[in-house]
Amino acid sequence: MKQETKIVNAGRSAKWTNGVVNPSVTRASTVVFDTVAQMNNAVANRHNQTMVYGRRGTTTSFAFSDAMTELEGGAGCALYPSGTAAITNAILAFVQTGDHILMVDTAYEPTRDYCDKVLAKMGVTTTYYDPLIGADIEALIQENTRVVFLESPGSITMEVQDVPTISAIAHQHDCIVMLDNTWGAGINFQPFDYGVDISIQAATKYIVGHSDVMLGTATAVEKHWPQLRDYSYLMGQCTSPDDLYLALRGIRTIGVRLKQHQESAITIANWLKERPEVAKILHPAFDSCPGHEFFKRDFKGSNGLFSFVLSKGNKAALTAFLDGLHHFKMGYSWGGFESLILGITGVNAIRSVTEFDCEYPLIRVHIGLENVDDLVADLAAGFERFNACLANS
Ligand SMILES: *Cc1c(COP(=O)(O)O)cnc(C)c1O
Repeated sequence: MKQETKIVNAGRSAKWTNGVVNPSVTRASTVVFDTVAQMNNAVANRHNQTMVYGRRGTTTSFAFSDAMTELEGGAGCALYPSGTAAITNAILAFVQTGDHILMVDTAYEPTRDYCDKVLAKMGVTTTYYDPLIGADIEALIQENTRVVFLESPGSITMEVQDVPTISAIAHQHDCIVMLDNTWGAGINFQPFDYGVDISIQAATKYIVGHSDVMLGTATAVEKHWPQLRDYSYLMGQCTSPDDLYLALRGIRTIGVRLKQHQESAITIANWLKERPEVAKILHPAFDSCPGHEFFKRDFKGSNGLFSFVLSKGNKAALTAFLDGLHHFKMGYSWGGFESLILGITGVNAIRSVTEFDCEYPLIRVHIGLENVDDLVADLAAGFERFNACLANS
């Protein structure tokens, strides 16, 4: 099946749809049995998509987990109430006191905070590494290194990692390779083809796609799936069937949404590239983006999220730019149908072993599904306010 067809069919087994097009919303804490034999049978099949108790999963969560493994690959998909919960619980499932993990320096800030504030307290140490380290990761692997964690492209600054090279070396040392695959969305990057063991997504972003649900997923290869699944259960992780229904609905359009996000984002990035106020485009499909060659080699496409560095300016001019925007609202998220923007001045405060070279502020945009001309006009007016502010200071 080609990807577009998979997107339409994923998770829609007759087991979950009950004769209609979409899987039903099963709201349940309690699953009831009439006989001891039925109850024993359900318990015996608890790892086999059989309903035993709401927290263990319902037909709606089985449908969504199936959909994610059909799209992303792997042997199974554990579900969490947020992307952050998926990251923290996936790591927790595989480490114990005395272990060490390697974390990419450009990881999503809450991922770093978890390492520094939670894992550290439990006696699990973290070494941060350069996202562009490639084969040199080997020198950082210790005897007690259990997990090598990647996020590609990196948060904010969009460095694309050489995932297959890092994975191969990690495996030589018996480390588990985990990837935050939120940007690839399981559509534009197929993690298990590149040596990843556990692929994590903030389904909150493109899977849900409409900015109305928090949800996290972790899909795993056969070897690690039982441990991931069991620890998710042990930690009491479960998700609302209504949220899962919305995520299943989001999946049906993810292919066409991503194509449009990609097309509009590339148009706008090309327009920004010509602006004198812009020094550098940090979009994986542009050769100015670190790791662009790995994007070209490994990804099937891009989406609406990228950053750019300004060639001049200060905090006041950045504020003048951002404050008057109509279509770009400021928000700490992305992946919905709407455009979003963030002005960032302290990139180096959220990394520790690499230095991001930027004299002037950085802007991250999520290009939504609005008309591109309207978005360009909004940004052009922003640059006028920006330049007026600089001229007056
Ligand atoms: C948003 C995001 C997360 C966290 O997801 P939440 O659902 O907000 O907890 C993790 N990783 C990346 C790359 C994200 O963008």
